[in-house]
Parts: sequence; structure tokens; C-alpha cells
Amino acid sequence: MGKSIIIIGAGMGGMAAGIYGQMNGFQTRIFEMHSLPGGQCASWKRNGYTFDACIHHLMGCAPTTKIHRLWKEMGAMPRELAYTKECVSVVSPEGKIFYDYYDLDLLAEHLRDLAPQDAKLIHQYLEGIKSFTKQDLLGELTSGKARDILRVSPTLLKTFKWFRLTMADFAKQFSDPFLQRAFPLLEYSMPSMPFAVHLSKHAYGYIKDIAWPIGASSQFARSIAKRYEDLGGKIHYRQKVTKVLTKNGKAVGVKLAGGGEEYGDTVISNADGRKTLLDLLEGQFLNARLKEYCSAPPDETNWAVHVFLGVARDLSKEPSSLVMLLEKTVTIAGHETRSLEMQLYGFDKTMAPQGKGVIKVELVSRYSYWKELARDRARYEAEKQKVAEQVIELLENYFHGIKNQVEVVDVPTLLTWERFMGGTHGFANFPNKKINIISSLSSTSGMTVPGLDNFYFVGAWATSAGALFANAVSGKKVIQHICKQNGQKFTTT
Ligand SMILES: Cc1cc2nc3c(=O)[nH]c(=O)nc-3n(C[C@H](O)[C@H](O)[C@H](O)COP(=O)(O)OP(=O)(O)OC[C@H]3O[C@@H](n4cnc5c(N)ncnc54)[C@H](O)[C@@H]3O)c2cc1C
Repeated sequence: MGKSIIIIGAGMGGMAAGIYGQMNGFQTRIFEMHSLPGGQCASWKRNGYTFDACIHHLMGCAPTTKIHRLWKEMGAMPRELAYTKECVSVVSPEGKIFYDYYDLDLLAEHLRDLAPQDAKLIHQYLEGIKSFTKQDLLGELTSGKARDILRVSPTLLKTFKWFRLTMADFAKQFSDPFLQRAFPLLEYSMPSMPFAVHLSKHAYGYIKDIAWPIGASSQFARSIAKRYEDLGGKIHYRQKVTKVLTKNGKAVGVKLAGGGEEYGDTVISNADGRKTLLDLLEGQFLNARLKEYCSAPPDETNWAVHVFLGVARDLSKEPSSLVMLLEKTVTIAGHETRSLEMQLYGFDKTMAPQGKGVIKVELVSRYSYWKELARDRARYEAEKQKVAEQVIELLENYFHGIKNQVEVVDVPTLLTWERFMGGTHGFANFPNKKINIISSLSSTSGMTVPGLDNFYFVGAWATSAGALFANAVSGKKVIQHICKQNGQKFTTT
């Protein structure tokens, strides 16, 4: 395989492919349709407030983990980080709060105070977290070699039982009604999430591998783009790729929205999988499995709306992440809910003017709901305003007086994501494949297209994973694979 690589998109996967490509002597170029690097790893400014649409939990902050090594190679570490005390917290309508502290002694004491009668289950929770602290499971599984994966198999075996339980399954064993209601929501308010995901995340928080990058997501992405450019790579912004050029079953280049054509020996797409296959490759390279993924309906419920509030209120003493249980069910954006999930950024003073703060509320809704409303711009805007008003009204229960402290409101929906990142039905790429650990183990599974050589996918489509590190790893793996094909030693310096 030759030495020039064209990359579509400067998301995590695209920039990682660029960085490792440059390190290994390839001439790489990234064509990015937006004016910024990072893709979904995005934050923006509004009247002195920073609104962050991505990072809740950044993994790879402890120097001992494999993911940290990846970030270091990519120029994202070391950096200034903020460590939050709790993974998440939950407040009842009466004001009772559960802090899911990362510190296990603090957590044990706090949980026993809240529900002494559930001591046995609390002990199981703590032991579950501890069982994931023994080895760097996620790091080894996603970026390790076969022998590393073998090395973590004892932990995998020991923790296997937790993968069979969901958040809801574990929660229903509590006799305390508050914890029974709170526990299903601890992992992004998704009761069906495997309990193991939460335990594992908690364990990484305990060893201080999870933190917040001061300055928010776009700063994080910019440091990676800088690393790429320092290595001699070039990101061409505002350059939308409209077609992947192919010849005799090989990718040979890309066509840009302006009409220009660029040629390279390999093309790597970090763009949405469906859009790449159906539009950029004009549906020419599909097998039955890909056809099925591409035709999946848009109607999955999702975090379809974010309500960002810039408030004249000090949030530095508030928890970093809060689930607010509601007294009764409310319908917001066409979705019935009995809780509100939010992040409060009082731990990073760069997010708001002094003494003020940012709240982000994430709401579940459907893509089709917003798509239908957007037929009439006025209705779409009115619904966004209504959603913000409903949220502010509900927040008043916990943050008394907040109604009069709101200075800035911003309400992006899945359509906003679609417009800025080119995803199908909102968040770029999520291919409706089952989260597939096997695909992250194998070097190129999910990354290739049947019948087309010299073409690879990186990012969320390739990995089925909505995590920055996993998407970055996919870019590294593609370059490792190309080096292997070339009989070339892969290097990370
Ligand atoms: C709300 C939300 C919260 C999240 N929270 C976390 C978290 O706490 N921790 C975590 O690790 N992960 C989190 N994630 C997941 C993480 O952000 C994504 O998995 C990751 O950013 C996706 O990276 P990617 O490589 O797939 O590229 P993407 O981010 O999808 O980027 C693709 C890039 O390609 C560009 N592009 C698309 N089409 C074209 C085209 N035709 N021509 C040129 N350029 C094109 C886009 O503009 C974009 O820049 C979150 C995601 C979301 C949406």
C-alpha cells in the first residue's frame, strides 16, 4: 500500500488515524466539513458561558492506564484536570441526596447511613466496584495485544456475573425505596445498562482515571489537532467530502463539495457510516448486514435534546452530576419522564463568568419528533423554548430562585448534531449494531467495506462505541493494520 492517506473528518478516529499515520511516515490530509476539530467532542461559547455537549467522564487520566498512554501519544495529556468527588448523585423530591462517591470508604459510610437495612447489598456493590479495580480491563480490551487480553481474563471471569445484571436488576434488590429508585439511573439514566458498565466506570473513577479536562471538550480536541499539525499533518476545514472516488474495487480519492478532487493511496472515513456507504460510496459496496444497519429506523429514543443554561448563581458547592427525581411524571419533548439528568460545572471556573455557573440538562426524546417539528421553523423554535421553560420550572424545586437567574439558554436537538456533524438521525455514526466487545478486540473488524480495497472506517461506526478513547483507538488500529500490510514496523513516536 502506498504512502498517502486521505481522511474524511477530524473526529477522534480521524485525528488518531492522522497522528499515527504521520508517526509512521505516511502523508496524511484530513478534510473536515466543520470549521473546528473534534466532531462530537464539542463545546462552544455563549455570552461568556461555555456549553459542553460531550464529555461527562473522560477516561485515561491516570498515568498507569493504557488509555492514558494513548492520550499522551495523541497530545491530549498531560493537561489540567478536575477530579469530581462523585460519579453521579441523585436527589429525591423531598431533598434527600445520594452521592455515588468514587472514594469507597466515603461511599460505604454514606450508603449505610442512607439505608442501614441494605448493608448486605451495599457490601456487594462495593465489592463489585473493587473487583474491577484489579486490572486495566477497558484499556487492555480496546488497545491491548492478544497477550494483554489473556492477562486480564482472570478479572473478566471474576466480573462476568455483573455483566448479566442490568442497573434495574440490581436496584430492585434494595429495600430502601429511595435507593430502589435512584440506582437504576446511576448510569446515564439508563436502567437497562449492564451493571458491569457502571461498576467498571466507578472503579476507574476510584483509581483517578476519570476526570474532567479543564476548558471543556473543544479544548481537548484542539490539543489533539495541534499534535497532528505538529507532526506535519494538515486539516482542511470547511471541506465537505461528497464522494469517495473508486477505481477497479479500490478507493483512490475523494470529491469535495466545491467540485475539486483529491487523490491518495488510502481513504479513511471518520464520517457517519450510513452516509459514507449510501451517499459517498453511492450504495455500491453493501452486503446484507450493512444494508440492515443502514436501513435501521430513526426512531430510537436518545438524548435528543440538551438544555444549556448560563445562570447567575454559584454552582461550585453543587454536585458535578445530578439526577433529579420528580414527584410525578411529566411529558417533555414528547417523552414521559420521572427524572431529570444534568451536569453542573461548578468544578471548572473557566466555564462561566466569576460567581456564575452552567447547567446542562439532557433529555430523552425521538429524532422523528424534532424532524416533524422542523418542517415548520416557528413550531420547532417554539417547542425548544417550551422545553427550556419546563426544565427551568422543574429545576426550581431544587435550585430555589433559579428562574430569575437564567441569563443564557441554548437548546440543541439531534437536528443540530446532524447539521454540524453530518450524522444520520443526529449523533454521528451510531450504527445500531449491538455494543460489540469482539469488534474492539479484532484489529479491523467493522472497519472495512466488502468489495472495496484501500478503504477503512474509523470512529463510532467502526467500533459501535460511544466513547472518545475507543474511537481514537480505532484510528490507531487502522494505521497498525496498514503498517502490517506494508511489512513496516508500527511506531508511536
Ligand atoms: C451527548 C454526548 C455525550 C458524550 N459523552 C461522552 C463522555 O462523557 N465520554 C466519552 O468518552 N465519550 C462521550 N461521548 C462519545 C464521543 O463523543 C463520541 O463517541 C466520539 O466523539 C465520536 O468520535 P468519532 O471518531 O466517531 O468521530 P465524530 O465525532 O463523529 O466526528 C466525525 C467528524 O467527521 C466530520 N464529517 C462528517 N461527514 C463529513 C464529510 N462528508 N466531509 C467532511 N467531514 C465530515 C464531522 O464534521 C466530524 O468532525 C458522548 C457523545 C455524545 C453525543
